[in-house]
Amino acid sequence: MKNVVSYLFLLFILGACSSTKEKTGTSQAEAIEQQTIRKIDVHAHYRYARPYLSSFFQDWIMQAVLVDVAKEDSTGINRSWKQYVDMDIENPGVFYLCSSLVGVGIDDPDFATKNIERLKNEIATGAKMVKVWKNFGMVTKDGSGQFIQIDDARLQPVWDFLKENGIPVMAHIGEPVQAWRPLDNPMNPHYEYYKNNPQYHAFAHPEIPSYETIIAARDRWIAANPDLPILCAHMGSMSHNVDMVAERLDKYPNMMVEPAARFGDLASQNSDKVKAFFVKYQDRIMFGTDFGNYDPAVDWTAEQLDAEQKDLDATYNDLWRYLSTTDSLVIRKQHTRGLGLPREVLEKVYFQNASNFLGLE
Ligand SMILES: [Zn+2]
Repeated sequence: MKNVVSYLFLLFILGACSSTKEKTGTSQAEAIEQQTIRKIDVHAHYRYARPYLSSFFQDWIMQAVLVDVAKEDSTGINRSWKQYVDMDIENPGVFYLCSSLVGVGIDDPDFATKNIERLKNEIATGAKMVKVWKNFGMVTKDGSGQFIQIDDARLQPVWDFLKENGIPVMAHIGEPVQAWRPLDNPMNPHYEYYKNNPQYHAFAHPEIPSYETIIAARDRWIAANPDLPILCAHMGSMSHNVDMVAERLDKYPNMMVEPAARFGDLASQNSDKVKAFFVKYQDRIMFGTDFGNYDPAVDWTAEQLDAEQKDLDATYNDLWRYLSTTDSLVIRKQHTRGLGLPREVLEKVYFQNASNFLGLE
């Protein structure tokens, strides 16, 4: 009887494996590659503890950078920094930390000094990078009522401090160009985001500076700080056109990019063209996702946790398939073919570039 039970169990396991394989389309060779290429998700937001997270990252031989997001509202500046510090302590060896800078209070003559003091402490706590967000350019205004652009001279002492301390910047400046266009096509990879976050749908807010104004300020800032390594998140808000990204990478040697939450835009472009872009700029692109969690999951059942883990596994797997195979697949409603990048490119994009950039090993 015991043998029958084990046999049935074995059948069940085999059945589960083959159905997973069918679902993901991952061949054995690709699965082996997936298990031997180290990875750093350079743009993640895991705010809350989960019992499965450490082993999940171990299985993917992956680490992640927890990127602080600072938002201002009527109550002040809200950050996730403290949560990320706790996550780092609770999951040793899994995470790295990225601090943040906002422009609130920029008219204060001590603005830069105060922020440098804060950043010193957060670097001592483990911050490997500092993020600036789209509130520069689109949200935060100074005392004169002007939107603060990222090339504002009042921020310069902070850049100088970061340069001297070898701390790079992650820059999410601007939004995808679709934010400045009417939201009339549900197949647009950003349709849901702007439906749910209408405050960033610049088309509906004519007071927000134009896409071109914000991108030009970002470009001037990168050019003015050639010794400051800058990782442009979300493909530098130019994900709809890899030619625009290539043009900047050619111009600014201190600029890097990562495609977090913009794989849908890449998938909407010709895969041969995107592949050529990844191959040509294989030393300048990192792997980032924007994945994370937003629910403390206090009363969750084991089934709910399991479902979340499976979803997360499937989403990382979709991106792996897009980058490493030539399978037909759908990413954010965009039908596309995987890029089939060679192993040496995958190793750089998934791991080595981020490791070098953040000075990890
Ligand atoms: Zn993010």
